[in-house]
Amino acid sequence: MESAVNQPVQYLKGVGERRAGQFARLEIHTLRDLLRHFPRGYEDWSAVVPLSAAPPGEACCVQVAVTSAVAEHRVRRGMTLYRFTASDGESRVQVTLFNNPYMASKIHKGDSLLLFGQVKGGFPRYEMTSPLIESTQDGQRIRPVYPQTEGLSSRVIEKAVAQALQQAGDWLDADPLPASLRQEKGLCTRRFAYENIHFPVDHTTLAIARRRLVFEELFLLQLGMLQMKGRTRQETGAVMSEDYSGEFYRLLPFSPTGAQRRAIEECVQDMRRPYPMSRLIQGDVGSGKTAVAAGVAHTAIRNGWQAALMAPTSILAQQHYQSLSELLGPAGIRVELLTGALTAARRRELLKDLGEGRVDLLVGTHALLSDGVDFARLGLVITDEQHRFGVGQRSRLAQKGTGPHLLVMSATPIPRTLALMIYGDLDVSVLDELPPGRQPVATYAVSSRKRERAYGYVKKHIDEGRQGYIVCPLVEEGETDLASAQAWAQQLAQGAFRGYRLGLLHGRMKAAEKERVMNAFAAGEISLLVSTTVVEVGVNVPNAVIMVIENAERFGLAQLHQLRGRVGRGKYASTCILISDARNEEARRRLKVMCETNDGFRIADEDLKLRGPGDFFGSRQHGLPTLKIADLQADMDWLRQAGGAARHLTESDPQLASPQNRLLKEEVRLLFGQVGEQGFN
Ligand code: ADP
Ligand code: MG
Repeated sequence: MESAVNQPVQYLKGVGERRAGQFARLEIHTLRDLLRHFPRGYEDWSAVVPLSAAPPGEACCVQVAVTSAVAEHRVRRGMTLYRFTASDGESRVQVTLFNNPYMASKIHKGDSLLLFGQVKGGFPRYEMTSPLIESTQDGQRIRPVYPQTEGLSSRVIEKAVAQALQQAGDWLDADPLPASLRQEKGLCTRRFAYENIHFPVDHTTLAIARRRLVFEELFLLQLGMLQMKGRTRQETGAVMSEDYSGEFYRLLPFSPTGAQRRAIEECVQDMRRPYPMSRLIQGDVGSGKTAVAAGVAHTAIRNGWQAALMAPTSILAQQHYQSLSELLGPAGIRVELLTGALTAARRRELLKDLGEGRVDLLVGTHALLSDGVDFARLGLVITDEQHRFGVGQRSRLAQKGTGPHLLVMSATPIPRTLALMIYGDLDVSVLDELPPGRQPVATYAVSSRKRERAYGYVKKHIDEGRQGYIVCPLVEEGETDLASAQAWAQQLAQGAFRGYRLGLLHGRMKAAEKERVMNAFAAGEISLLVSTTVVEVGVNVPNAVIMVIENAERFGLAQLHQLRGRVGRGKYASTCILISDARNEEARRRLKVMCETNDGFRIADEDLKLRGPGDFFGSRQHGLPTLKIADLQADMDWLRQAGGAARHLTESDPQLASPQNRLLKEEVRLLFGQVGEQGFN
């Protein structure tokens, strides 16, 4: 039978088509979505205080009797005040409402009311402005406050949730968490949890409800990731019998760092096992991930397999193509680039060669995922800067082979506490060593008054034969990326940098155009690249030693770190100048962190402190489901406990195939369904 929780919210009393549209904006379509729309906070109407004891500056609930009629004052056109007085038996309060004739008409002398809001003034006369008002019978409880949207108030959502709870009885009583687990962890039932997260009886029941929901969320998440991992462990991969890394090291123009060697070895070992590798190479900007990818691809190819490397932008794909063909070409390995810029004829020819096994390593953007891109023997899939790809995309590329090995490279320095969570389905190698001779990028934060001086400094470097970047101001609302970047570049070309060779790079350019500009910059034909944040990821031009970032306050720490990582990639000392006139404390602190350290992990930790993990965990970043209720910092201990329980369960029932785990399996599928993961059926 179709459960009531799958019914659309539209059929709830008082909802209808228009409201359903508003709910849809909050991603609430069914009763289940509605029940999982958890309050963002609560109003405590249960603890009534005397006016004289109201906490200053905070909302609270008082109980009063109305002692006057409601008086109407027309202040000016479109602004009417309604005033009445009331008493809590001890003190008097004057209450003012703005433009609320409906509420005013319902209040009469002698009524007993609960008012919720800030109490101002002092004895003998207090004041409240626009408090929330309820009749005494209805109000005395802890009320949920929901994330709202235009036209859809928390109160309307509350009424809908109350109905949904009434109708979803079967779902509330079908608890996916096994009773034994609930007992072991001291968790309440699903029914108790949902009833009390929305309408808590008191603070204790609220805490009990939250505990259960947090556990459940973290448990399902980790269970899902373990399942993915388990699945890969069951297939037979492209087994590689030989290790060719020694041969590869001789191709490199430098000697690999210890960390690079270790990472390559770990990968080669993985690939010699009879199931597919799933490994993340995590290395700060400039740590040399490309060489690791090349080394691993080299061994796969020498074992007779094909490899694919997917990059998030065409600039990056182009660049990888170039460095990989330079490196591997001399060993007789054929590297090709697949982008949207190919002519139809060239593309057809390339795909034919690929399908017949004549291309060894195919580099490209997500164009690699498209139909018609078929390999003869795909044995290794590499994705660069993976936080831009979803879990689903990663597995789609893998489906072009039979159990190919998977290597994921990420420069996002994820705080160690979160890495496990985000990459729970992968083994991790860390590149914790930079190539020798790297100097930290000296970083300065200056106000726009120093812009001319900063430009002077840039010119000095260019005059010495080096290159630089200027990252454009971020776009104002209503202005296009294109217009602002073009205008900025033009202003520089005619002003401060007249006579210098400038290039412009922005997000609206066609892939082929971007490639042309990037190639010219890499070849040194352009000295100064004026750019929007498209340079953010991965670009490698070691001769570029200076970067100026405009409106630096508008970038997050992680993004600033990525941007800055474009300089300091060679033997020259490098500089980054952050221009900002921001005064607010958080922005100042971000800039200060940037000036103090080049350590990606420290920056990530600071970022986490400043922004909170909620942001970090948005599903855009890494393709995992967004957490609805757990707070990764506050609930760290629960994360560990849930992880332990998930592993335990997975050991006894890896596929969640047993009947008593049917509901759990369904929940995992629903959770990951939202990110397009295809592995769960
Ligand atoms: P990222 O990890 O940011 O992707 P890259 O792979 O682009 O870093 O490498 C950054 C630069 O360091 C490149 O110019 C690369 O040639 C160089 N490099 C990588 N490994 C070494 C090494 N072991 N010794 C010297 N230079 C290296
Ligand atoms: Mg890179």
